[in-house]
Amino acid sequence: MNDELITELSRIAPVKRDEPMSRHVTFGVGGPADLFVSVKSEEQLREAFVSGKRHGAVYIFGSGSNVLVGDGGIRGLVIDNQHAEIGEPWENGVGPRVSAGSGLSFATLARRMASGGFGGVEWACGIPGSLGGAVVSNAGAYGRSLGDVLISARLTNAEGAVSELTAAELELDYRKSALATGTIGESAVLSVDVRLQRGDAEALKETIRSFDKQRKSAQPTGQNCGSVFKNPPDKAAWEYVDGAGLRGHRIGNAQFSEQHSNFILNLRGATAKDITSLIELAQARIREQTGIEMTPEVAFVGEFE
Ligand SMILES: Cc1cc2nc3c(=O)[nH]c(=O)nc-3n(C[C@H](O)[C@H](O)[C@H](O)COP(=O)(O)OP(=O)(O)OC[C@H]3O[C@@H](n4cnc5c(N)ncnc54)[C@H](O)[C@@H]3O)c2cc1C
Repeated sequence: MNDELITELSRIAPVKRDEPMSRHVTFGVGGPADLFVSVKSEEQLREAFVSGKRHGAVYIFGSGSNVLVGDGGIRGLVIDNQHAEIGEPWENGVGPRVSAGSGLSFATLARRMASGGFGGVEWACGIPGSLGGAVVSNAGAYGRSLGDVLISARLTNAEGAVSELTAAELELDYRKSALATGTIGESAVLSVDVRLQRGDAEALKETIRSFDKQRKSAQPTGQNCGSVFKNPPDKAAWEYVDGAGLRGHRIGNAQFSEQHSNFILNLRGATAKDITSLIELAQARIREQTGIEMTPEVAFVGEFE
């Protein structure tokens, strides 16, 4: 990373060097990023992405709730996306919709819309990741996913050209998108337009309370990244982890949760190596027992041993 990039970035926002990524991901593990910049608007996000790409590798982090950063850290620039602006819902003749910055959390969008009497996204009330991250993985819960309600997303490419793509053009499918598969070139999601439905605020808030209750009883708290593996077509990933006898299994300071075996917990002080060892152990056992290849849902970023 050269001085020219640091000078360019400093005009956009303060730049940190060797920033520990464990502070910026829900897993709480990961070595330092060479350069780190927090952006708060669409323009800052676009400029930082284009500048960074001119000079080398760029990684955008939303809430860091679906990434495992290697113990060796990240060679390149990390953009911490805090572009969380949100407009008022508006009508365009075919129903209400809302525009939001890609750094806003999906859960915040769901809760804020429900309070204002708009439904359609209340099922996302427990998804802690940003809307940008949600586009990349087509985040979903309770049988729904972003692809069901996404009208379009604004993206910039590495040269700064902005385009607006529909859910179909983004090829949103179960925990994947054209961004994740690389069908469309490296891009930053800037903002999204989401379809809403008018509803009763009290009824929507009650639905959210019941989703919260379900999540609380099913999922562990603490440092984790949500589901570790994607569900294979025939049954839930946790059933495979259970079948491999790994519920509660611990390596170093990482452990498959006793409460939900598709979650890995950082019991404090875990390394990325502890976590990848658990993932690889589960993959090897399940492959041997069933022939199924378990695909991680979590994205691996940076340098691993
Ligand atoms: C407790 C818990 C519960 C969870 N529950 C669910 C759930 O119910 N359903 C579900 O689907 N997921 C769930 N997740 C996982 C996670 O919240 C989602 O995958 C979320 O969409 C990730 O968003 P993020 O902002 O955290 O992405 P990050 O982890 O920051 O990044 C993930 C990937 O997306 C890329 N990315 C992020 N933002 C952008 C952007 N603006 N432009 C381009 N690329 C970008 C990153 O580079 C990285 O490759 C859960 C996680 C936790 C910790």
